[in-house]
Amino acid sequence: MRLVMKFGGTSVGSAQAMRETAVLIHNTFNAWGQLVVVASAMGSKPTKVTDLLLKGAHTAAAGDDVTYRAVADELRRIHLEAIDSLLGPEHERQQILEENRRFLSRFESLCRAVYVLGELTPRALDTISGMGEQMSVRILAAYLRQEGIKAEAIDATELIVTDDNFQSAAPQFPETTARVEARLRPLLTGGVIPIVTGFIAANRDGVTTTLGRGGSDYTAAILGQTLAADEVWIWTDVDGVMSADPRLVPNAKSIPSLSYREVSELAFYGARVLHPKTMRPCVENDIPLRIKNTFNPRHAGTVIVKDTKQNNGGIKAVTAIKNLGLITVEGKGMLGVPGIAARTFSAVADSGQSVLLISQASSEQSICFAAPDEATDLIIDSLNKAFARELERQDIDKIWSYEPVSIITVVGAGMRGTPGIAGRLFTAMGINAINAIAIAQGSSECSISVVVDDDQTSDAVRHIHELI
Ligand code: ASP
Ligand code: MG
Repeated sequence: MRLVMKFGGTSVGSAQAMRETAVLIHNTFNAWGQLVVVASAMGSKPTKVTDLLLKGAHTAAAGDDVTYRAVADELRRIHLEAIDSLLGPEHERQQILEENRRFLSRFESLCRAVYVLGELTPRALDTISGMGEQMSVRILAAYLRQEGIKAEAIDATELIVTDDNFQSAAPQFPETTARVEARLRPLLTGGVIPIVTGFIAANRDGVTTTLGRGGSDYTAAILGQTLAADEVWIWTDVDGVMSADPRLVPNAKSIPSLSYREVSELAFYGARVLHPKTMRPCVENDIPLRIKNTFNPRHAGTVIVKDTKQNNGGIKAVTAIKNLGLITVEGKGMLGVPGIAARTFSAVADSGQSVLLISQASSEQSICFAAPDEATDLIIDSLNKAFARELERQDIDKIWSYEPVSIITVVGAGMRGTPGIAGRLFTAMGINAINAIAIAQGSSECSISVVVDDDQTSDAVRHIHELI
């Protein structure tokens, strides 16, 4: 059986974290036989290595010749400390130290070049920001070897071929598959665990590209597809995708399985689960994608598949996005006038903001939508400009914002064709004196969203969660 699994920055964030990760790798390898590991750059919040690398590059581009040097020192401290603590002098300590030092001095010279040129291209940014993964996999693989586990660090620049869209490059699957086959297959059959850099890849000329922030998840999925893996696992620090935010709902539980569509709805409404492109390679190739907890590895976690069996109530999860404003454009002269909605949203777009939920009553006398509350002034200014004439003629009476509000969304594909879900939802809210300010249901019937007063958010989430 063949498994690809990805560890995020926290799992490789310190010597201790790497030791624990190594145990998980060892145990999983024994159970599966063939294992590919994808790792992110070191770093637990707030010191993520990738962020530091980017900070160095950006400050250099802005004409600062000092900060990137301090960043390099910080990066040296993080990596050399881990190496010192993990690798014995009789093993590969010296060599891995040298390799890491080389990356860090390269980082400094690149930042220096950026500083001198005063220009930071997306291409340079990818080369710089991808170094964190190149350092972390070398440390982890050496530590595994020291522990007697056969492992080899591999830069995904050797494996994943992408287009030239630096910062968010797209993999070219036929070429990638050929390279993965040639490079990884022999290792797997030889019982070696490839430890592959997440996040980075290379274009056809071999220049480093990246798959976008958080892209290590996607790396695992790409390797899963190209190796026809039996499963892909993403390790995190919770038991998979939870039915609600455990900080709001202490008895939130892990959802055993979710469909592609359900995860998309959840992600849209604020549950940051996976890098958005991760699911596609898995779902299209029928490879179960599992989210598991490093602190509770025996737990099955959540598996994401193409379709799931509907659960009884239909509702699987409830999420909340806080700190929003609900903007209303209101006026009797709007009735039957085409183009008001289009102009409203193009005014919002002009202000550079995006909208989270839209609702218009059929009386056509008002249209309302939610946006982040720090953006409402900007949006209202832009709307006032766009509708100056209508406001003057009083076709539009007012444009105003009500805040703070939050959007509560319930998600579950089983809601489709299960009548009465909305009824149960609003009954639960009514009994608990939670007022719905606006409501929207997508026609996919995968979710219903309700806007409530911000200070009722946790009550609403808790009471709605009781329906699950
Ligand atoms: N290290 C990269 C980032 O911070 C990729 C990842 O962690 O998934 O965005
Ligand atoms: Mg991540």
